[in-house]
Amino acid sequence: MYTPNPVFIPGPTNMPEVLRRACDIPTIDHRSALFGEILQPALAGVKKVLKSKSAEIFIFPSTGTGGWETAIANLLNPGDRVLAGRYGMFSHRWIDMCQRHGLSVDAIRSSWHGGVPLGEYEEKLRADTAHDIKAVLVTHNETATGVRSDVSAVRRILDAAKHPALLLVDGVSSIASMDFRMDEWKVDVAVTGSQKGFMLPPGLAILAFSPKAMKAAETATLPRTFFDIRDMAKSYPTSGYPYTPPVGLLNGLKLSTEMLLGEGLDNVFERHRRIASGVRAAVAAWGLKLCAQNEELYSDTVTAVQTPDGFDAASIVTHAAQKYQVAFGAGLGDVAGRVFRIGHLGSMTDVMALAGIATAEMVMADLGLKIRLGCGVAAAQEVFRLGDVSSTRTAA
Ligand SMILES: *Cc1c(COP(=O)(O)O)cnc(C)c1O
Repeated sequence: MYTPNPVFIPGPTNMPEVLRRACDIPTIDHRSALFGEILQPALAGVKKVLKSKSAEIFIFPSTGTGGWETAIANLLNPGDRVLAGRYGMFSHRWIDMCQRHGLSVDAIRSSWHGGVPLGEYEEKLRADTAHDIKAVLVTHNETATGVRSDVSAVRRILDAAKHPALLLVDGVSSIASMDFRMDEWKVDVAVTGSQKGFMLPPGLAILAFSPKAMKAAETATLPRTFFDIRDMAKSYPTSGYPYTPPVGLLNGLKLSTEMLLGEGLDNVFERHRRIASGVRAAVAAWGLKLCAQNEELYSDTVTAVQTPDGFDAASIVTHAAQKYQVAFGAGLGDVAGRVFRIGHLGSMTDVMALAGIATAEMVMADLGLKIRLGCGVAAAQEVFRLGDVSSTRTAA
């Protein structure tokens, strides 16, 4: 059954009541002018959140995964070479999708405690003087490991190698919560979904295409129908849709972008940074380590906590759900059983985060871990009281 407790999973995230209500509207004729009053501000709002002037925004009834498929199918040709690192469950799944689309993937296996393998990317791109590599994939925030990668560094590598490959970025768990600079980083396609930073129910794949990506989409030959951005691009100027749009969710997205821009993007990012610092201070007080191997990699939206050897991290998630009706994230893939995850993105406040930290403490104490009740809460309280991010760095 439902619980009034917030969730601490890294998506779907908690929904503000006003956004829930905004999704719940009577049927309208999506071919009437009314629809344009929903669609156009939603598109414009997303573009602002991405700090882009030049991107085209596309919104499909789908999820983040459908967003990946949209990027691949619209830009690439069967057999095209793409470069991708495998450093967590989501970067892994994206590689799998590319392979299933018949692409030739240079998949670089790297540590699930680190980010995008910059050194290997540089080597591969410099060596590819024939420019066979058509796209470079980056998962900005690995939700499985709580690791943020440096997208701007990948752009610098591409530019230094004078390599024309398209830069495709999974921003599903970063966009609208952490700084994302579509134009400055010259990202060609950014992908996200409705149920993470935008604080909405699942159901929308949200994408941005650069002018260069729009051009590539004209000639790409992988099969695409439902996800063909050309049909969307033709319909949007007259506020049309190639099929029935999810009007309620789009109305929610319109309001979500108004809320984010109203709070101020810098304030939204600062709030996420502060809450993440508080959570990390708690983890340090518990004497536990993060999955992310160093400070530059720390995610502001999700924290993956390593449990001691021999302890099943999944039991934390199960026990928290059963005894306290609180949801944390389990470890996925290579780190299954060894980490649990605290999601702290979207509609999240310092006060909500304290409840999550306090619950995690009770759960770990119940399960026999040596946790002094209140120590993590106290550490986070200091961060939230003083708002001083710099004093809260933890040893990873
Ligand atoms: C959640 C997530 C996805 C998958 O999105 P769905 O909406 O579940 O399809 C992809 N990438 C990252 C980084 C995510 O966090």
